[in-house]
Amino acid sequence: MSVENKVVVITGASSGIGEATAKLLARNGAKVVLGARRESRLQEISQDIIEAGGQAAYRVTDVTEPEDLKALVGLAKEKFGTIDVIYNNAGIMPTSPISALKVNEWNAMIDVNLKGVLNGVAAVMPDFTSQKHGQIITTSSVAGLKSFVGSGVYGATKFAVRNLMEVIRMESAQEHTNIRTATIYPAAINTELLQHITDKNAKQGMDKLYQSVGITPDAIARVVNFAIDQPEDVNVNEFTVYPTKQG
Ligand code: NDP
Repeated sequence: MSVENKVVVITGASSGIGEATAKLLARNGAKVVLGARRESRLQEISQDIIEAGGQAAYRVTDVTEPEDLKALVGLAKEKFGTIDVIYNNAGIMPTSPISALKVNEWNAMIDVNLKGVLNGVAAVMPDFTSQKHGQIITTSSVAGLKSFVGSGVYGATKFAVRNLMEVIRMESAQEHTNIRTATIYPAAINTELLQHITDKNAKQGMDKLYQSVGITPDAIARVVNFAIDQPEDVNVNEFTVYPTKQG
């Protein structure tokens, strides 16, 4: 099995890592199904893919809504006949010190970065279990492997995703469902992610770091492609991706 002809649902596909991944996978022959909230972006990206000879569909999707994820997976099956991979990539990172008590932002991160991933998992699990094959890929973060000042809640969601993905891997092996898992831990990747940081100091610090070392999202797209492109009995399940210049 290779990337070619695989049906891949991608959340957070309207920009950054999701967009780069959709375009790369489609170039390599995957049928991609894009989800995010900004319809105009999804439409534009799908059109670019189709004009380049690829296959794509999209649906406006809020990952905090379980029904939206079910409908996105439903679109994949309706349009392309099956679902092989879900890439749970949608995420937000409004970092701030805990003492700033940006409680609404804490809740938003839990809803998108953690519950959004759970909603994606729940949407594919019935099909993956019955067809005894499938792949769940999720974007965590280096903030899901170690702690950073300002990333108390962001990191908490990304650490949680790490545990979730590892347990899915273990249970799939135990239950013989052949569900492969891959968790990606990117460091500084230049995308729109920093735009939503409202804490002035946190934003300044991040802007400085990303401007000096950040790399393009294609780096992550290639990793997703590699994970999908393995034989069915090979589960390459964790990737940490740093810019070479980031300490
Ligand atoms: P972007 O801001 O460019 O992309 C985030 C994507 O998530 C957008 O497509 C956005 O689409 C989508 N999104 C946000 N909220 C929702 C929602 N409620 N429902 C559906 N989609 C949503 O940033 P990145 O590409 O960098 O982010 C992708 C992932 O990578 C995130 O999980 C992030 O935490 C992770 N990551 C990024 C790093 C980096 O340095 N860039 C480092 C480590 C991890 P829309 O607004 O249209 O809904």
